[in-house]
Amino acid sequence: MSNKDCIVIGGGIIGMTMARELTMRGLSVTLFDKGKLGMESSWAAGGILSAMRPWSEDPYSSELSNLGKECYAKFVEELKQQTGIDSEYYQSGLLMINATDVEQLRQWADENQVLIAENYEDYPSNMRLPAKSIFLSEIAQVRVSKLLKALHASLIKLDVTIFENTAITGLEINNARCKSVTIGSKKYYADSFILSAGAWSQQILASINEDIKIKPVMGQMLCVKFSRQQLKTMVLDGGHYFIPRRDGHVLIGSTMENVGFEKETTQSARNELMEWACALWPDIADAEFVKHWSGLRPATDNGKPYLGKLEDYENIYINAGHFRKGIIQAPICARNIADMVC
Ligand SMILES: Cc1cc2nc3c(=O)[nH]c(=O)nc-3n(C[C@H](O)[C@H](O)[C@H](O)COP(=O)(O)OP(=O)(O)OC[C@H]3O[C@@H](n4cnc5c(N)ncnc54)[C@H](O)[C@@H]3O)c2cc1C
Repeated sequence: MSNKDCIVIGGGIIGMTMARELTMRGLSVTLFDKGKLGMESSWAAGGILSAMRPWSEDPYSSELSNLGKECYAKFVEELKQQTGIDSEYYQSGLLMINATDVEQLRQWADENQVLIAENYEDYPSNMRLPAKSIFLSEIAQVRVSKLLKALHASLIKLDVTIFENTAITGLEINNARCKSVTIGSKKYYADSFILSAGAWSQQILASINEDIKIKPVMGQMLCVKFSRQQLKTMVLDGGHYFIPRRDGHVLIGSTMENVGFEKETTQSARNELMEWACALWPDIADAEFVKHWSGLRPATDNGKPYLGKLEDYENIYINAGHFRKGIIQAPICARNIADMVC
């Protein structure tokens, strides 16, 4: 299908990675976003390159995360070579504390040849860690804001046609094929269409499909800064976590809120995150407060993303619903869909 056109709807990490993959395979791609590229859920993400609890994941989603993990170092290195932007990928490891499902964790680690260590001690002296914790040294992180910048720069280099602040309002269908996307009275034609509009994907498909169910789950996050890096590993405690960056920034995540498309940050979430953070690591109270933000994770009923050709249509594909794993799963999902399209 080289020389044929493809339209990608939604320019978060999934749509940008998708557009890049298709372009590198020789297709001419147009990418639409209702706002600025990468500024919705993707920008809000922490960048942990693992599911929170891989051992209790749906197996299909877990497989995508594993495959995503395997190709990440190469993915970010290629982006760096192409754009000069370093996404700050590195294996900082992840320390699990207060885990209630330790036996499942051990079994999963065993089955997947994941190294675990029981006595991690390289943490700030006044951190109040429980006696028992488990360290997963191979888990990596990426600085998502930089990764998104690199992806955007790469799309420009590859001559992808980008329309920002341009919301797709409809799909024109004829004989089980999509002919064009509509933006008010304007139409844009292509041979293939890929829907990657995150939490908004269900709305865009509403007039032609009732089976795709994706709902937004808001997550709020804080960022503080120390003058230098003090914590070296990510720390996960139930639903809360620290993600330390090498320059002293520390992300404090996150909430899970079913509030529809509401995205306002709240004082109660800020209090919840700060209370958890300061109880575990009192120095957080003295760090410089940098930012409080939120994003809408695209959640599905069964924990699996929608990935493939849309039933009943010859040329509409969907790559959406990655919930808490869109960053890690983006490169592998882009490859999977590109294999179907090309
Ligand atoms: C607080 C938080 C922390 C997270 N941490 C992690 C993590 O550590 N690791 C991880 O792997 N994942 C994490 N995630 C999940 C991850 O952010 C998402 O899975 C991922 O960003 C989904 O990417 P996306 O491109 O599908 O969605 P989005 O980034 O939301 O992109 C969808 C795009 O579609 C556009 N769009 C919507 N409607 C239209 C329309 N009509 N026309 C055109 N464009 C449209 C939007 O403007 C948007 O840019 C986190 C999420 C949150 C909120």
